[in-house]
Formats: sequence, C-alpha cells, structure tokens
Amino acid sequence: MEKSGKSRCALALFFLFIFSQAAADNGAIPVLTIDGADYVALSDLGRVDGLDSSFDIITQRGRFYRGTRTAVYQAGLSAALFSGTLKKYPRPVFRRAGDVLFPAAFAEDLLRDFFPEGAVTRKDRLIVFSAMERAPRRTPPADEAAPPEKAGAPEARDRIGFVIIDAGHGGKDPGAIGRKGLHEKKITLGVARRLESYLKSNLKGVSIVLTRRSDTFIELATRTKIANSHLREKENGVFISVHVNASISPRISGFETYYLSQNPSNDEARATAALENNVVVLEEKSHRKSYDDVEHMEAFMLTAQIQRESALLAECIQSGIDRSTSEFKSRGVRKADFFVLRGSLMPAALAEIGYITNPREAQHLTKAAYQEKVARGIGEGLVSFIKKYNRMIKN
Ligand SMILES: [Zn+2]
Repeated sequence: MEKSGKSRCALALFFLFIFSQAAADNGAIPVLTIDGADYVALSDLGRVDGLDSSFDIITQRGRFYRGTRTAVYQAGLSAALFSGTLKKYPRPVFRRAGDVLFPAAFAEDLLRDFFPEGAVTRKDRLIVFSAMERAPRRTPPADEAAPPEKAGAPEARDRIGFVIIDAGHGGKDPGAIGRKGLHEKKITLGVARRLESYLKSNLKGVSIVLTRRSDTFIELATRTKIANSHLREKENGVFISVHVNASISPRISGFETYYLSQNPSNDEARATAALENNVVVLEEKSHRKSYDDVEHMEAFMLTAQIQRESALLAECIQSGIDRSTSEFKSRGVRKADFFVLRGSLMPAALAEIGYITNPREAQHLTKAAYQEKVARGIGEGLVSFIKKYNRMIKN
C-alpha cells in the first residue's frame, strides 16, 4: 500500500521528454545506414507535424501519439504495439547519443498508420512523407477515431520459434517459504531446468531460453523484457513462469495456472497475484514506477488476441499437469494481475504448481521424481499449445 504512494511521487519527478514541435508538415526523413540496416532517428520523426512522442529514460519505453492512435516501443525490442496491434521488425529499436533509432520499416508503418490520408514513399535515402498532398486535413483534425476497417482486420501471426521458461524468484528473493527453510525459488528452478530438458527433446526447431539458470535475483519487468527481446519478424514465442503458492491454511493444496487480466477470477486469485507481486519491494526504487497506475494502462495494452492465446496456453498447461500428476487436485485456470506477465508481447501463463504451506505437497515438491512429473505436465501442455497455435495460423 505504502509503495504506490511513494512511486506516484517518484513519477512526478520523472523525466519525460516531449517532442511535439510544429515544424515541417511534409517532408523528407533521412534514412541512416547502421550496421547494414536502414534506420530513422527520433529527432527527425519529431519534426513531423501532428506526430507527438515521449520517451521515458528509466523504463526505456517510448510512445508516439496522434489523436486516438498510439504506438508503444521499447529500446532493445524488435517489436512495437500500434494501437494494440503487434508489429515486428528485423532489427531492434535502440538508443544512441541521446536519440532513439527505429528500423526504417517502423517509421514507414508509423506514418502510414497515423496519417492514413497521407502518402509515404521511399526515395533513395529518404522517406518522403506528404500528409497534405492527397487530401488536405479536414476541419476536425486530431481526434478522429481510427477507421472502422482497421478494427476488424485479422492480425498476421507468426510461428512459435522459442519458449521462455521463467523460474520464479531467486537470489535475495526466496519466494514463498515453507517449513524447515524450504524456499520456493529452489523448487521453481528445479522444475524449470527439468522442463527445459523435456522441451529440448520434445520440441524440435524451437529454442528454449531460461530467464535464470542459477540462484540469481531478476526483477519482474526484466523477465518479460528478456522474453520480448527474442521476438523477431516472422517469429513468435511463448512465456511460462513457474511458481509455488502459499496459504495461511496448511490444508490447502493443488495446482493452478494463470493468465494476465485486470479482473481477477476471485479473491484467492487476487491474493496469489499480490503475493507474487510483493517482490517489487526488493527491486530498484527507480524501477518500481513501471508497476503503478500511470503505466498500468500501457502494461495492459496487450492485444485481445494475445490474451485469448494466453487463456488457451493456461488451459493447455493446467490440463498437462493434471494428466501427468495424480497426487494433488487441479484448482483450474484463473486470471489475475501478475506483474511478471504484464507487458508480455506473446502468449504468457504462470503456473502455481502447488502449495509450499501444505506439508504433504511441500514434501512432494522437493522430490526430483515429482518435479519431473510436473515439468513433464507443463511440457506436454506447451507442446499441445504450440500444435494448436500452429494449426490456427495455417488456416
Ligand atoms: Zn512465486
């Protein structure tokens, strides 16, 4: 509780660079060649009349806006969200000498998306943009809603090329603590590594990445950032975070799988998310702002499609664990606001594989054989999700 007040205060001190000059309305934006790829600088895009932007140096996240249209990007990522639609590029956005550099294709998409009445053409080392030529701006300018044909347009999906396995907690953050000093972070790492070897032998042609392979501390937002940094043009991924639950009642046992939602399934789901989100108190103070209200909307700007896919992913994982284990009951698929799932630009789920506060379940969770069973269950769920997903994109 105390945290949110503090971070709102920190937010007021935040550096927010606003570039909103009313300069050259039409014109030519220079295309720079960097490492053999075409890039466009924010300082040049900033001169486009009617295109506003901001960049937050701490979260390294920036945004363009015009009327109701927004485009959100993050330095280091090859993907951006255009009014809730994910677009991917061959190279990442990056910062250099106080400027931000975008793949030229990003700049072209941005201008076409934000100025549907204009014309964008490439001429030598220039992007020639003429907003006025074809149709002069009509009297009510900026606030026009997006054209309706855009809303229903199907999103192109790419094949799953990688799986990110996130072992919950680590380092100075032990996670939930059970009897005899049993730490959640140790169980999650054990299951994550077993899941990695299951997937390596059962998912050919898909790379498997762990957010941590040892007892190290990683901030929540960094985990999603690691996952998003693997997104490439024509390649999608899946994010799975492994956790162990805790309850005041030692009688409660069983496993459940979550996907991100602002509206938790019930009070229990809300409490579980609060428990997992609690780790932000151990994070760098300056980083905590990304969890507060202002960033909230942006964090939830995941597309409706990614949310549907995440719900399907959670279903697959939950029934995978249910099939491969018989010791404890399935508590079903739930939704809640887990910070670690926020901002994921790919289907993402979080498995709470059992209760560390239930003595019998805690004992199982420490055993290699049971960890193996759970890992196999999650793995089978992932394989079945990827099959379903690839079938969907073929149609
Ligand atoms: Zn946890």
